This record gives sequence, structure tokens and C-alpha cells, in this order.
Amino acid sequence: MAIHPEASRVVSQFDFSDADINRHVQEFLKQMGEGLEKDGTSLSQIPTYVTGVPNGTEKGLYLAVDLGGTNFRVCSVTLHGDTTFDLTFDKVAIPKDLMVAKTASELFSFLAKQVEAFLQKHHAEHFECHLQRRKTGSAPEGFKEQEIFHLGFTFSFPVQQLAINKGNLMRWTKGFDIPDAVGKDVCALLQVEIDKLGLPVKVAALVNDTVGTLMARSYTSTGKYRSILGAIFGTGTNGAYIEKISNIKKKIVGDYDTSTGEMVINAEWGSFDNQLNVLPNTPWDQTLDRDSVNPGIQMFEKRVSGMFLGEIVRLAVVDLIKDEKTLLFKNPDVAAAGGSILEQWGLDSAVMSAAAKDESADLSNLKQELSILLNGFVPTTEDAQTFKAVSYAVGRRAARLSAVALGAIALQSGKVQDPKEEVIDIGVDGSLVEHYPQFREMIYEALESIKEIGPQGAKKIRIGIAKDGSGVGAALIALIADRSS
Ligand code: ADP
Repeated sequence: MAIHPEASRVVSQFDFSDADINRHVQEFLKQMGEGLEKDGTSLSQIPTYVTGVPNGTEKGLYLAVDLGGTNFRVCSVTLHGDTTFDLTFDKVAIPKDLMVAKTASELFSFLAKQVEAFLQKHHAEHFECHLQRRKTGSAPEGFKEQEIFHLGFTFSFPVQQLAINKGNLMRWTKGFDIPDAVGKDVCALLQVEIDKLGLPVKVAALVNDTVGTLMARSYTSTGKYRSILGAIFGTGTNGAYIEKISNIKKKIVGDYDTSTGEMVINAEWGSFDNQLNVLPNTPWDQTLDRDSVNPGIQMFEKRVSGMFLGEIVRLAVVDLIKDEKTLLFKNPDVAAAGGSILEQWGLDSAVMSAAAKDESADLSNLKQELSILLNGFVPTTEDAQTFKAVSYAVGRRAARLSAVALGAIALQSGKVQDPKEEVIDIGVDGSLVEHYPQFREMIYEALESIKEIGPQGAKKIRIGIAKDGSGVGAALIALIADRSS
């Protein structure tokens, strides 16, 4: 591929060798252990109070909402009890101003209104009885138990969980910043706004999307192998895995079922190695971090997830554009002509997928995509090839870093080394892993290079998409909470 020769200095800085992968896995395992011992470490390793995973026989109608990053989803899920389900959902983009609202109430009342609109549209029977009561002025607690929807609240930000339906927000990530909400119980914040509208809805469970992914994968998995890990590679990245309670050395406050001897841990791996002991740190990683809303935090996520990959590519490309010596995007001069490629967050990671997908000789589709970012100017083939090379390097590094997290947790489970374990199942969700071409293949290649895993171990690892993870998973946890309450 003919790229601008000056660009190779950029591309090579995103190399992430097999030796790098192995060093990262050791560090990841170390930081996992630290997180199980005490609070305030890099990987938060948050106990979720979920001590069992479903087996596919669960039944019922549940509500689920998902505040994950870019969108808010409301859905109702009917679990049929035979590993299948029906799901109805509506989705709205979170208005940017609400992501940085002054008060928590502004955001949460918006969310409650979406729940109301959803019930009105899809569950008119429930809504009618709600209207009747509103008319007669009877309080929402006057609802009969069977009229109340149990709702699983998927809230994918770091939370100090205190019970299955209670958790205090530790910090915002992914561009959200509402200081008023930090330290507060997010279930209570939502319930208060739902009650203001008088809806027949009880927030029954607080769910991290990764835990939901793990649950959904376990419910739908028809084989005899249960999943060990649910992982997200979307706006952000994180994973939840099954840990032996005996390995959790820090105190777990409150009551939980000890009979399984296991608990799902929300690793919060987006903050792996915030101190940069091992993580790569190119000049563009540094600029991205410096100009982010949370410098020094979520350092792993900033090198791996959909929200940030496009920006890393953009910064590296802009560097080349501005470099007098390179000829990239110089004809005409993009630096002078303008275009969103020159603006912070001006390049969505989806463009990286478009770049990877376009295998034509003249990269016509990619040129089309790029022209949108370049004020209408269609780049040369060499420009497009250079862009593609930078984009591929950033994407490949992200996939190999992802393999670090997946590989370390596969090792932690003890199943890689155990000849009796034939399959190590991992459920994944998120636009990046779903739509970026070859993302999973690049992960597998990296897993093979981990010394303790190797090609044999990598063959045992089955990475499957857990579709609708947060919806079905949240419904399943609402069901578990409902049963144990
Ligand atoms: P969320 O994580 O917010 O629930 P998604 O899993 O859809 O939602 O992830 C959205 C993120 O994925 C955005 O940051 C977006 O830039 C990125 N993205 C969307 N489509 C693609 C794609 N085709 N390839 C790579 N990244 C994508």
C-alpha cells in the first residue's frame, strides 16, 4: 500500500508487540488482585451482589432502561423460560446539555419521562391504570403488586454498589459531568423522578451493562458452557466476570447469597493502569487525555473504546496535515480549507470501520466518507491510504489491548490451564467489536501470543456477541432481585 512515506513514523508508534501484550497481562492480573484487596486502586473490582447466573429457564415480563453513553434505551422484555425472549425498545440520544447538567434531577427527570412515554406507547394497559389512579389522586404506592413493573436499571458508570438496587455514583466517564450526582444513589435518583410522574414502576436492580451482557449471554447460551465474562467495547469499555468469593479480600457490605461461593465482579477495567506503568503513551494519547474532561483517568478506555479511537486517529492525522514536510491532504490545503477533521471529536470511530472495510484499489468509499470531514474536498488515493494505515494501526492496538483484558480474566478463571474445561465462553457487546472489521480476529491473534494461553488455549476461548445484553441482562437481574426480595 502506497502511503505517504512520512506517515510511517506515526504508524509505527502504535505498534504493540507480543512482548508488550505479555507485560500488560501480568500487570493486569496484578491490578486485578489489588482491586480485590482494597478500594481506591486502579481496577475498582466492584462486587455486584449478583451471585448466580441464569440458566435459560427464567420467565416473566420486565422493564429495563440503559444509560450507557450515547443513547438512553427503554425496553420491556418477555422471558419465555426456554432461552428465548421478546424485546421491545425505544432509544433516544441523550441531549448533550443534559450530560453536563447542573443538577442530577435534570438528567433523571428526562429519563423518567422516557419511561412514561414508553409505557404509554407499548404498554397502554399499564398506562391506563396509571392514568386512572392519577385522576383519582391515589398515590402510586396504591398499585397492586401485579401491576408494578420491576425495572432493571443499566447504568454504565463506576458505582459503589451497596445492594442489588442501591449504588452511589463514584465518578462520571464518557463525557458526562454532573457533579451534583456524584456520591448519590442513582436508583433513588431515578425512583424519585418516576414517583413524581406516578408511574407503576419499581427500580428493582442496578445493573452495569457488562453484568447484563454476562447474564444475557448465560440465559441465551444453549450449550453446557456458562459464560465467565461479559465485556463491552462500545462508547466505553469494561468487563464483568465471575470471581470466587474467597478471592474477594475486601469487605463486601450488606447481605448477599453465599451459597454459590461466587460473585460477579464489575472490573471497571477502563481505568486499568491509570498510573501508566505499562500502557503505551504516544504524543496523540497525551493530547487526547490532556484535552479530555477527566485527564489522568480511564487511561485504558482512552486507548481502546469507540469514543476515543476516532479522536486518536484524528489527532495523528492532523499532526501529519500540519507538518510542512508531509504532503498529506495538501492538495488543496485542508489546514486552510477547514473541515470537521480539524475539530476536537470531529472524527467518529465509525469512519475507522469504513476505512477497514474499503478494500477497493482506489478506496472510493473511504474517500467519500473522508470528503464529509474535509469540507467536501475529495482526497487523493495516497491520502486515503495514509488515513487507512493510521486508522488500522490505532484499531489494531485497541484490539490487542482488548485481548490483554480478556486474556487476563480467562487466566484468572483458572479454566485455561484446566484440561477438563473445553470452552471458555465470553459474551461481548458494543459497536466496536460488532462492526469494526476483523476486531475479533485481531483479539484472537493476540490471545495466542499470551504465553500462558498460546494457540491451544486461545482455541478454547469462545467470544460471542451477546445481543441486547443490557436489556435482557437487566431484566434477568430485576427478576433475580424480585425473587430474593
Ligand atoms: P453505547 O456503548 O453507547 O451503548 P455503542 O455500542 O453503539 O453504544 O457504541 C457507540 C460508540 O461506538 C461510539 O463511540 C461510536 O463512535 C462507535 N461506533 C459506532 N459505530 C461504529 C463502527 N461501525 N465502528 C467502530 N466504532 C463505531
